[in-house]
Amino acid sequence: MVDATFRVKGLIDALPHVVLVLIMCQYCVKQQHPQRGTICLESGSYLMNFAGCKECGKKEPLKTLVMFTEEDVDGEELVTYKHVCPGCDHLVAEHEYTFRVEGNYQEYMMTCLLCGTAADSISILPGSPTENTSTF
Ligand SMILES: [Zn+2]
Ligand SMILES: [Zn+2]
Ligand SMILES: [Zn+2]
Repeated sequence: MVDATFRVKGLIDALPHVVLVLIMCQYCVKQQHPQRGTICLESGSYLMNFAGCKECGKKEPLKTLVMFTEEDVDGEELVTYKHVCPGCDHLVAEHEYTFRVEGNYQEYMMTCLLCGTAADSISILPGSPTENTSTF
């Protein structure tokens, strides 16, 4: 008869290592994927949310390594880069930024563990009645 309890315990014993690998960058940020409203970063880092590198303990402005920038014929733009610790090259987060034109609007979107998530849409038409009135 197989001892099920023992087998489960074996799995749990193996788990901490796996979890550490998967969630390591949670330790480098104060808040994961904070809501940033309409603030979309096309470059740079939201350092306010950087708690410090868990690998080397440094809290210095992160390096950004551009993975790729893509612009297609419709004017849609995709920018992806990595936030990397300048001290030990530890990967803190991957950053994705998209820009596209949808009808009469320019739409921006950002997703990043460190910089958070944000989306914005701005009317292209000057003096449009649907102008964004949420400014302050
Ligand atoms: Zn990390
Ligand atoms: Zn580091
Ligand atoms: Zn970011």
